[in-house]
Amino acid sequence: MQLLRQYAALPGRFSTPLKSRPFRAPGIIGLNAPLATALGLPPEWLKSPAGLSLLSHGLRPDGHSPVAMAYAGHQFGHFVPSLGDGRAMLVGEIQDAQGKLWDLHLKGSGPTPFSRRGDGHAALGPVLREYIVSEAMAALGIPTTRALAALTTGEDVLRETLVPGGVIARIASSHVRVGTFQYFAARGDQASLRVLTDHVIGRLYPDLATSINRALALLEAVVERQARLIARWMLVGFIHGVMNTDNMSIAGETIDFGPCAFLDAYDPGKVFSFIDQNGRYSYGQQPDMALWNLGRLAEALLPCIDPDTDSAVTMATAALTRFDQIFGETYLSGWRQKLGLMTEQKADTTLISRLLTLMHRDEADFTLTFRLLCNAVRTGDTSDVLTLFNDQTAATVWLQDWQHRLKKENVSAEERAQAMRIVNPRIIPRNHQIEAVITAAMSGNYAPFHRLTEALSHPFDDADDGFDQPPAEHERVRNTFCGT
Ligand code: AMP
Ligand code: MG
Repeated sequence: MQLLRQYAALPGRFSTPLKSRPFRAPGIIGLNAPLATALGLPPEWLKSPAGLSLLSHGLRPDGHSPVAMAYAGHQFGHFVPSLGDGRAMLVGEIQDAQGKLWDLHLKGSGPTPFSRRGDGHAALGPVLREYIVSEAMAALGIPTTRALAALTTGEDVLRETLVPGGVIARIASSHVRVGTFQYFAARGDQASLRVLTDHVIGRLYPDLATSINRALALLEAVVERQARLIARWMLVGFIHGVMNTDNMSIAGETIDFGPCAFLDAYDPGKVFSFIDQNGRYSYGQQPDMALWNLGRLAEALLPCIDPDTDSAVTMATAALTRFDQIFGETYLSGWRQKLGLMTEQKADTTLISRLLTLMHRDEADFTLTFRLLCNAVRTGDTSDVLTLFNDQTAATVWLQDWQHRLKKENVSAEERAQAMRIVNPRIIPRNHQIEAVITAAMSGNYAPFHRLTEALSHPFDDADDGFDQPPAEHERVRNTFCGT
């Protein structure tokens, strides 16, 4: 196994070398063998003492240091000029068989010069949550960082009480964030902004290398990837929970799974995150917040876009304007797919929004509604769908209108049901299931973790495992807590 040092070799301001400290008794809870194999990392080696040292505290076989990456960020709207990897490290890059580079990054691996008042560690609960949710996102086909391994450290960390510590080893196309650009912009360091732009283009957007205005081309590309990403989140009911600019990836991958959650009942105003008391990052706010973050990226890039601020602003604004269009197209075509509509008709948006209004009013389960609609297409029987609604009359009228709309297309029920089943998952990682996994893991029982991650690895298949069931009243999770 060869680990590169591409990011670590950038100028000194970009990162700080770390002396990592071994944990008392690290142990692997979950190892993502298919991902490891795809990256050319033999799973058996990862389980060896050398592999464990690499995964838990970043000890590279070649003796080079892992690094903490520098970044800034707007946290809940307030700018913090220096955040950085306070409990994380970039171990290095791995080159896969296709030649693509992947970051190997650890979270919970110990203090760094960016730790501020934090302890540099992670509790096991959030580590397992990130593993479960990021792998579920990948199985749903949504761009995301991946979980390579979840580990216990054999050491406790102090949160509200003493809890077991953990480390997540994750893989990403890059860990450069909107906040990385803001870090250099805040220091007026245009030279570093240019180095960073070139680095990101080389790594993530090689087609842009020959653009006349590379900074502008990069902004446009990130706007596009983020617009598509957020639409994909919305279509599965995902709430990131803490969309600060330091948690927004330049690669357009879902990153930094903290107090994230999926909708059970449909509610556009839904917030789970305990730290988000004002609902800034509620489900329905996510497109607006993504665009707000991209505005901060645009600001950071302005001097690289054009030395004349007015023309830079004009060009950046035009790039940002594309967000709504790309988001809207991805979102609408995603909804058509979810409802089995194969052609485009003007009235489709009304059909979609009428359903969402009913779902909201009757607190219908988001995932179940669409999965049961797939079955209704196959059997012609909508009675299961109706059980999700209180107002039977209104739901019946909608179902009839929908069936009427479907009849306008010459598609067999079987073909349509199949097309719907590959976009409407049977299961998503529900909060109460994640909580149950974490509770069991706290007492050393990892079997529920393995059962849930296995089921979520094929979310579109039918199975009789009970994971499709929404929480009972007493199981409902009202708040999720940040990983800190
Ligand atoms: P997050 O909200 O988890 O994305 O983290 C925001 C910032 O706080 C990042 O700079 C993290 O490195 C830092 N941070 C979070 N938790 C800790 C911790 N336990 N120790 C040190 N730094 C932390
Ligand atoms: Mg973060």
